[in-house]
Amino acid sequence: MKVNLLDLDRSAMERWFAQTGEKPFRARQVLRWIHQRGAAEFDAMSDIARSLRTRLAEDAEIRAPEIVGDSTSADGTRKWLLKVDGANAVDCVYIPETGRGTLCISSQAGCTLDCAFCSTGKQGFNRNLTSAEIVAQLWIANRLLGRKQGAARPITNVVLMGMGEPMLNLDALIPALKLMLDDDAYGLSRRRVTVSTSGVIPGMDRLAGECPVALAVSLHAPDDELRDAIVPINRKYPLRDLLRACNRYLERAPRDFITFEYVMLDGVNDSPAHARALLSIAAKVRCKFNLIPFNPFPNSGFERSSPETIRRFAEILQRAGLTVTTRKTRGDAIDAACGQLAGRVSDRTRRTAGRRGTIPVREAA
Ligand code: SAH
Ligand code: SF4
Repeated sequence: MKVNLLDLDRSAMERWFAQTGEKPFRARQVLRWIHQRGAAEFDAMSDIARSLRTRLAEDAEIRAPEIVGDSTSADGTRKWLLKVDGANAVDCVYIPETGRGTLCISSQAGCTLDCAFCSTGKQGFNRNLTSAEIVAQLWIANRLLGRKQGAARPITNVVLMGMGEPMLNLDALIPALKLMLDDDAYGLSRRRVTVSTSGVIPGMDRLAGECPVALAVSLHAPDDELRDAIVPINRKYPLRDLLRACNRYLERAPRDFITFEYVMLDGVNDSPAHARALLSIAAKVRCKFNLIPFNPFPNSGFERSSPETIRRFAEILQRAGLTVTTRKTRGDAIDAACGQLAGRVSDRTRRTAGRRGTIPVREAA
């Protein structure tokens, strides 16, 4: 079995070279070729002796998921569907904005947590992605987006807001994050890499210790009763404990606030009373709010709050001095909005609502 070099962060690559009797600086050279210059072949690595290149090609490979879908919507949002094995595909979405470009990546194929309003959750869990499969999303997007001479980098921010619960796959996620931060790979600042979690407390503590980056927490409800119903992990890690974990995280975090994500579900969690109840949460944790208009999918049973309701909700928080942003709904036409990832692929092939299983990918004939 060849080693997939996309799986190795700097320390793992140094160890790997050391095992074969090579100098550790080879790791730096190879990291730069792979992640900065997007090399997929060892032959391209012109400052490495031919004999070593040949040996590398025998023992190692640079293997990324296969791109099986590539679509761009009118607002410039671009979505790739990446096949990670014969039975699974995940999504990766690029969102260009003035002055920055955000790549939204996946951490698992499916998700175990089953939040009521999430189409990934409805598809069930299939498997964790490997470090290579996680970082390859950035590698692929960088290669395809290119970089015009003198132009700014197309990807300035990465968010773990695609499919899956990142805190349940930290063994694979942490090396991938380290590559995102490494100056010889992607060189992103910790503040520009955001992990989003539904509130898996042990994962938050581990991430704070091993690789603190910006943190977003999917709050979605101001009290345990409602949160138990729509974010089931709350039954295991209730709000009081979650807020304490947020404050522990902030001791190590690169930013001095947590972003609370809040999906706006018509008639469920969007009343002025809900907004006022959030103020007592905000009094306990330094935070900003990101309101996400619900993105509908077939048989979800939910509807999006009206723009007027969302505006009023935001206003209550803002009047209390909180920073609130409302996420623009983007990439609708290509199902690239949050919660829609890979959903349609599975809808087309299995119409039974709520059935669980893999996310099927059609094999080329
Ligand atoms: N599992 C992690 C990260 C992936 S989901 C988490 O739950 O935080 C990224 C964000 O999209 C989360 O805040 C999630 O609650 C939200 N989301 C899921 N389904 C959605 C939908 N249908 N409409 C809008 N937001 C949704
Ligand atoms: Fe999983 Fe996040 Fe979807 Fe919940 S919202 S089911 S944690 S991906």
